[in-house]
Amino acid sequence: MSVLIFVDHIDGHIKKASHEALSYGAKIAEQTGTTAEAVILGTVNDDLEKLGEHGVKKVYQVQNEQLQQFDSQVYTKVIAQVAQQSGAKVIIFSNNSSGKALAPRVAVRLKAGLAAGVNALPDTSNGFTVRKTVFSGKAFAQVAIDTEIKVLSLNVNAFTIITGEGKAEVIPFDAIVESPKLKTIDSTKTSGKVSLTEADVVVSAGRGLKGPENWGMVEELADTLGAALACSRPVADAHWRPHNEHVGQTGIAIAPNLYVAVGISGAIQHLAGVNRSKVIVVINKDPEAPFFKAADYGVVGDAFEIVPKLTSAIKKL
Ligand code: FAD
Repeated sequence: MSVLIFVDHIDGHIKKASHEALSYGAKIAEQTGTTAEAVILGTVNDDLEKLGEHGVKKVYQVQNEQLQQFDSQVYTKVIAQVAQQSGAKVIIFSNNSSGKALAPRVAVRLKAGLAAGVNALPDTSNGFTVRKTVFSGKAFAQVAIDTEIKVLSLNVNAFTIITGEGKAEVIPFDAIVESPKLKTIDSTKTSGKVSLTEADVVVSAGRGLKGPENWGMVEELADTLGAALACSRPVADAHWRPHNEHVGQTGIAIAPNLYVAVGISGAIQHLAGVNRSKVIVVINKDPEAPFFKAADYGVVGDAFEIVPKLTSAIKKL
């Protein structure tokens, strides 16, 4: 039973989520006495041999002009070819936007069982059972997969990146690559300096900020912490901030190590997208704000006083 991990990249670099997936896949391989292998589509600037430091033995690289742009249908067929030829029995994706598009498609193609949103190593003592999050992270489900091939997508930021010694063998893979049916004419980067889904730290603000003209202090705090920016839904609906910063049930679900919420009430629909954050800090002037119940640290006070003080204190560190 070999394990195949899909390696995702952006702007020529492998995503942090993929380093987590590689470490996770190598653990399963160790647990089951098999080998971990990776597949990467397109070209990156990173040294692929170094992926061996996470415990993978081989990296199949499919290089083709058609693969430089992500296309879920084209990618699915290529990954399925690599999985079939390498004899992979467990195929791992990150549960991010590309993983969400690919994992179910690859599972259908390979007639494999799928568990999405996995957050623990599988129990392989009697079959193959994994734990996954359900109901926007409010509960866990144990899922037994009994198909020969299993596809998993892993929650981002749920697994530690393991780095040791080792070099992976990089193997060029000659796959049949179809022409994409969609053509990207233009793309514009709208997110901030740090990608929201990849960020370790996220600073988020809500309607308590009164208007878009007040975001300067939030941006300064985010810059000081090296954080990505996020917002509540009404803020995006009012066009104070772009919709790709909106987190929650109807926005992006994130799981950073630190989530700082400024002037956000903590409605259940907001919490659904942020409650997998490791540490939550809430700044709100209302001591009864529901967000305090979900917070690890809370500051009751006016954001317009607290945020600049916090930023200047962090700058002095
Ligand atoms: P408010 O509820 O207006 O809260 C503002 C907060 O700021 C208050 O707690 C207030 O005490 C505090 N405040 C005010 N002034 C200050 C100050 N000077 N200093 C400090 N604190 C201050 N919401 C999302 O965010 N994401 C979603 O994905 C989402 N999906 C939804 C889906 C559905 C189907 C529905 C019905 C709703 C959804 N919502 C979502 C909306 C959600 O229910 C809340 O209305 C929304 O999260 C509230 O945003 P807010 O906290 O920014 O604003």
